[in-house]
Amino acid sequence: MILHHRSPHCKQDCVETSLSDGFQMKVFVTGGCGFIGSALVRFLLDGRLAEVLNLDRLTYAGSPLRLVDYENRSGYVFQQGDIADRSLVRNIFETFQPDAVIHLAAESHVDRSIDAPSDFIQTNIVGTFVLLEESRRHLKLRPNPNFRFLHVSTDEVFGSLPPGERFDVDSDYDPSSPYSASKAAADHLVRAWCRTYGFPAVITNCSNNYGPFQFPEKLIPLTIAKCQSRQPIPVYGDGKQVRDWLHVEDHVEALWTVLRRGKLTDTYLIGGESPLENIEVVHRICRIMDELVPCEEGSYRRLITFVEDRPGHDRRYAMCIDRIKEDLGWSPKRPFASGLRSTVQWYLEHQELMQVIVADRYRGERLGTGSTKH
Ligand code: NAD
Repeated sequence: MILHHRSPHCKQDCVETSLSDGFQMKVFVTGGCGFIGSALVRFLLDGRLAEVLNLDRLTYAGSPLRLVDYENRSGYVFQQGDIADRSLVRNIFETFQPDAVIHLAAESHVDRSIDAPSDFIQTNIVGTFVLLEESRRHLKLRPNPNFRFLHVSTDEVFGSLPPGERFDVDSDYDPSSPYSASKAAADHLVRAWCRTYGFPAVITNCSNNYGPFQFPEKLIPLTIAKCQSRQPIPVYGDGKQVRDWLHVEDHVEALWTVLRRGKLTDTYLIGGESPLENIEVVHRICRIMDELVPCEEGSYRRLITFVEDRPGHDRRYAMCIDRIKEDLGWSPKRPFASGLRSTVQWYLEHQELMQVIVADRYRGERLGTGSTKH
């Protein structure tokens, strides 16, 4: 396939070039320096599935170190910048001419959204709007019947579930936090663009991810980091909030499956079918740490400290993933027990790298009480 291509840094007019050897398509990834985005970029490049242009603003949560081994790979371009910067996004469409967008860039931490919601509105809602409009403009100028926009969203848009129930593709939206409300708004924009403009998009709503390279403000890496530093492990409320855990590498395989074979305008729920209470996850991490790095003072469980609950904390999420299983043949491959063990091992082996990624951006302090910033 012959496509125009130019690095976003290049001041020349478009240069005719073909896809690099072996690649099937060109994907414009947003937020590729984050936890899930970087796993996706590694997956696309390792499998020579797609040439990638990664647009990432490098907020506190984004780090090019997650992709340091990929910097000079053929088929990979990194562009630092904001998805809400319309002229930059337009320039990327004109020069890179993607066959698909996989949109992950977001402010993603519920606690931070409680303390300072405005970045969530700007990136998650306005940024998504800019991407939709510039994708639509691109398609008008260069019609491409294979073009797809994959919007990556969360199960949190559906709010909290009573015991025994599961979210499904018809669940009502009922977000509880500024984060989940901003993601819900973005989902609504994408769906409206499909209905109003016939825009070729697919939405995925995924449950909690875990795995290598996650920023240690989230439960699993935070618990491991607190064990490593022998500091109190904070558990919100009674710790009985239920989350459905999915390994990040299962998630990126699901995203690729939906991008290639998902039905346009449909929504796919993605989950690990591993619902567990937070306190159970913390106990399991302590058990693995007791085995791998025994502590003279006794089990790491002694560090568990119950703290005041998060305001508006959803009690329970659980996913019905029948559609992606039955229609697309995807299901999670990595069982939580072995996935958690290998994740703990990964953080033990990459302690220094994670310290560099986190640097002075976060010191493990309590976030999300709503009393810190406005
Ligand atoms: P993350 O916070 O680790 O990464 C987000 C990335 O987006 C960072 O690299 C950041 O620099 C970048 N970014 C933020 N604002 C930007 C902007 N204005 N312009 C360009 N880049 C910007 O998040 P994650 O955990 O990797 O999540 C990725 C996506 O998946 C998000 O959309 C999130 O809502 C969704 N999601 C996450 C989970 C989860 O458990 N982590 C679950 C379901 C869905």
